[in-house]
Amino acid sequence: MTCSVVEKFQRLTQHMDLEPDEEAPMPSPPRELGGWPIFHAAARGRRVPLLKVLQSSFCERDCLYCPFRAGRDFPRSAFRPQELAQAAHTLYRRRVVQGVFLSSGITGGSLATQDRLLATAHLLRREGFSGYLHLKLMPGADREQVAQAVALAHRVSVNLEAPGARWLSRLAPGKWYWRELFQTLQYAAQARRERLRQGLSVASITTQFVVGPAGETDRDLLRVTQELVWQMDVQRVYFSAFRPIPRTPLEDRPAESLQRVQRLYQAFFLVRDYGFRWDELLFDEKGFLPREADPKMVWAQRYLMHAPVEVNTADVARLMRVPGIGPRTARRIVAARRVRRLQDLRQLQALGVQVQRAAPFVLLDGRRPPFQPPLLPETF
Ligand code: SF4
Repeated sequence: MTCSVVEKFQRLTQHMDLEPDEEAPMPSPPRELGGWPIFHAAARGRRVPLLKVLQSSFCERDCLYCPFRAGRDFPRSAFRPQELAQAAHTLYRRRVVQGVFLSSGITGGSLATQDRLLATAHLLRREGFSGYLHLKLMPGADREQVAQAVALAHRVSVNLEAPGARWLSRLAPGKWYWRELFQTLQYAAQARRERLRQGLSVASITTQFVVGPAGETDRDLLRVTQELVWQMDVQRVYFSAFRPIPRTPLEDRPAESLQRVQRLYQAFFLVRDYGFRWDELLFDEKGFLPREADPKMVWAQRYLMHAPVEVNTADVARLMRVPGIGPRTARRIVAARRVRRLQDLRQLQALGVQVQRAAPFVLLDGRRPPFQPPLLPETF
């Protein structure tokens, strides 16, 4: 690998923590491995070391929050597809990475940029790269390009950035919410369904919101999140806490609170995995989740404290409403009670229930177990 390629990698892997791919509740920073910033993604049920790289850090767009926006002065670079595919494949052969995340700034239009990303992905696969591949879809990519990406990759993503056009105009005035972002996501969902119908492997779909500077509420974000998950086959929504980047138009805005983002992730998992609708969650009068406690605990305090769940009879969906009980533990409870009745918190604990959280909200054979009342903000 020539020195110039290494230099390009150093330039083109900067700021890639802004593009999450991790399965952890909160994205984690990269680790240094042999001088490379290596991230981790979940692929095929395993954590894989991941190279996140831009094909180009030149960009003709000027999204207000972005370090790569047009006109911002910093050293830029770009890879040709052949060059990037070879270099990434070398890292793969040396076992430095097992996966590649490819994104790009936009030059010569979205279609030409997407073509370059696809060319790199095709070459990588042709070189024998069979590892995890995450391909970014450019705003306004066409249907055929999206179908190719869905066929080549394990994961594709389009960043919506905001929960609607009104908010997007405050972050990225040059992007079209419906025509460029939402439609591309729709193409991905359609391509995915078509491949599923044919019994072929499919890429998962993810998206990301920039949380904070557009003034959107948690309610706005979670309403759209539910639509994405329930109707658009989006498997993962990322909430990226805004961080001001020097020499961008938003450099004076405050960074968004990580606690806000943590609550949004908790709410996302409730919508995706626990059967909650966004409008069941409790928001304050301005439309924000409480920061002091997780949204499931706040919901349970309101609705289960005086109507506890009998663990010997409740179905899986009802059990999952209890804090400290997740999908797996709910199924374990149902299996265990076929053998004998559950009468003791120790039995629940042995099944994986977090009993400190669950105790105020359950009945064990008609009796409430001893518990400490949860301390929650009074407004909820
Ligand atoms: S199009 Fe992408 S890379 Fe270009 S300025 Fe906007 S967010 Fe940044």
